[in-house]
Amino acid sequence: MKHDVIIVGGGVSGTALLYTLCKYTNIKSIGIIEKYPDFGLVNSAANMNSQTLHFGDIETNYTFEKAKKVKRSADMVMRYLEAEKKRNGNEKLFIKVPKMVLAVGKGQVDTLRDRFKQFGQLFPNLRMIGKEDIGTIEPRVLEGRAPGQELLALVTEDGYTVDFGKLSHSFVNNAKKENPDLSVYLSTKVVKIMRKGELLNLTTDKGEFEASAVVVAAGSHSLKIAKSLGYGKNYSILSMSGSFYTGPRVLNGKVYTMQISKLPFAAIHGDPEVHDENITRFGPTAKPIFFLERYNYSTFFEYWKTFGFSIKPILSILKISSDKVIFNYLLRNVIYDIPSIGKRSFLKEIRKIVPKINLNEIKFARKIGGTRPQIINNSTRKLELGEAKIVGEKIIFNITPSPGASTCLGNAFDDTIKLMDFFNHKFTFRKEVFEKDLILLSEFITDDISVKSKTLISFQC
Ligand SMILES: Cc1cc2nc3c(=O)[nH]c(=O)nc-3n(C[C@H](O)[C@H](O)[C@H](O)COP(=O)(O)OP(=O)(O)OC[C@H]3O[C@@H](n4cnc5c(N)ncnc54)[C@H](O)[C@@H]3O)c2cc1C
Repeated sequence: MKHDVIIVGGGVSGTALLYTLCKYTNIKSIGIIEKYPDFGLVNSAANMNSQTLHFGDIETNYTFEKAKKVKRSADMVMRYLEAEKKRNGNEKLFIKVPKMVLAVGKGQVDTLRDRFKQFGQLFPNLRMIGKEDIGTIEPRVLEGRAPGQELLALVTEDGYTVDFGKLSHSFVNNAKKENPDLSVYLSTKVVKIMRKGELLNLTTDKGEFEASAVVVAAGSHSLKIAKSLGYGKNYSILSMSGSFYTGPRVLNGKVYTMQISKLPFAAIHGDPEVHDENITRFGPTAKPIFFLERYNYSTFFEYWKTFGFSIKPILSILKISSDKVIFNYLLRNVIYDIPSIGKRSFLKEIRKIVPKINLNEIKFARKIGGTRPQIINNSTRKLELGEAKIVGEKIIFNITPSPGASTCLGNAFDDTIKLMDFFNHKFTFRKEVFEKDLILLSEFITDDISVKSKTLISFQC
């Protein structure tokens, strides 16, 4: 089979690109190849991630620049979700709950207060609240705390909790409506990509495919494929699995703790499950594993191939873990996954959010939580924060740790621009329509959202 564009990977990243190409470009011959029988079954599945649409408002390890970038992409997803809801009614793609970041003790309170001065301008719906208001929104956060303990929170009503697996399906269904000719190849695994003259040849377990341009959105597998073509040699992957503990409904919305600025992982938080608000999830933990996909033990060798068999990544790991903060963090997180002692030590973390929760109220959530392909840069010997995009000759590779689901449409936008360049503008991207629908004001958005849009535009200018 031959196509103009082939997308490898049917998670939320690949399907967001599929939707963008079908709705906003005139490329007709498009194929998407996914190795599993359905879309969104790996990291994008609702049980694999924290279900948070990250804007950068309550993630205290984001710089202002990073928050601006993530917000732009998250706004696109928010507008898509709101438009879908308006069009189709509640399809349970998302729920909206209050969302806060909680500072405990003088040091954290001072840091958060300072942060609000700058970030409050980027996020006009974000409010700074004290103890009393915290208790009104989240009574269990206050219950049992020492009366003298200083507390401060930044809170917003925009706590979008999203089923990113379902969102992947929504993207595909809408893409099909726009381009009924698009080709979907499920249960088809790409085993090799090679150049064949002007084209790229994809060998799969179901036969050969050819494409003029390829976007690989296969999570951590993207780096493995990139390396096989000679790209991304300088990167390795630290596969950071994340587990959760669950409890009864003790929170009304999302409550995040303050982030350790050196770490590229989300701080521990408690939030309601997207499909059952009576369940509160606490996590995720962050434990290194030697698999590209969690619970898929056949990806062990693929992991080492991606890591690289040389001294460089080993030196990077040694340098990264020689940092006391990172080493202690990793050690603590390995313990959290050990039955019995893990539960007891994680309870201490949960009690930073809900002080009076009991040991018998929580349980380890089995088979919940995927793994984040955290990128190691072997030149700087540092962990990178967020996603990586490697652009080759008519091929793009996306590697997507958190907040990769929140940035899926932003990534799709960037990839579409690059694809237009690959084709020397033989095709057109109706960028202004994309922007009208998903960035600028649209007929679907509510009043409070439109305030945000205006802010966004002013920041872009
Ligand atoms: C514990 C945890 C918590 C997280 N929390 C959040 C959060 O709250 N908010 C957020 O925005 N992000 C979060 N993330 C990150 C988010 O889940 C991912 O960034 C996002 O799902 C990545 O989507 P993707 O489509 O790039 O990858 P995936 O969803 O992993 O999809 C990749 C697809 O490629 C397919 N594939 C792989 N290899 C091949 C091949 N050879 N041939 C064909 N198909 C192939 C796979 O089967 C898969 O379907 C979290 C991640 C974890 C692990």
